[in-house]
Amino acid sequence: MRDGYSDAEGRGMTTPVPSNDDVFAHFHDVHVDRDNLEHYRALMTGRLVINRCDDCGHWIYPHRPLCPACLSWSVSPREVGGEGRVYMYTLLHQSRDPNKPLTEPMGLAAIELAEQAGLRYLSRVVGCAGEALFHGMPVRLTWTTEADGRRWPAFAPVGEG
Ligand SMILES: [Zn+2]
Repeated sequence: MRDGYSDAEGRGMTTPVPSNDDVFAHFHDVHVDRDNLEHYRALMTGRLVINRCDDCGHWIYPHRPLCPACLSWSVSPREVGGEGRVYMYTLLHQSRDPNKPLTEPMGLAAIELAEQAGLRYLSRVVGCAGEALFHGMPVRLTWTTEADGRRWPAFAPVGEG
């Protein structure tokens, strides 16, 4: 974990790990702290990582240093598989940048990840018209590049959108 991320087969050292300074510079406008540092470090290498309890296996999100299930302080960042379902969503019609008005509403959702009931990651939904979104829609992790060039996790409908 400190020298390089392993891939799914555990071969390791596939991607250099950004330094703490790299993470703080890349996410200069985000409140990065000790509880979410590994999450943001992983985003820089295209991985979605969430803390998981080492003692009972409970996934912990929003980012916290303490397991809410067994009160263990032993938690470690783990990569999630990226499968999930839309638990709830909203359609954002107003752009934050007045110079780049939205041409269609942006779908924002709480994605219930397959790893655990109630583990809901807040994310954009892409590859899907707003009116086509529905509760329980199966989605899969993908990545989207914002106007500032940063890549962020997003979710897209599984199969034909
Ligand atoms: Zn626990």
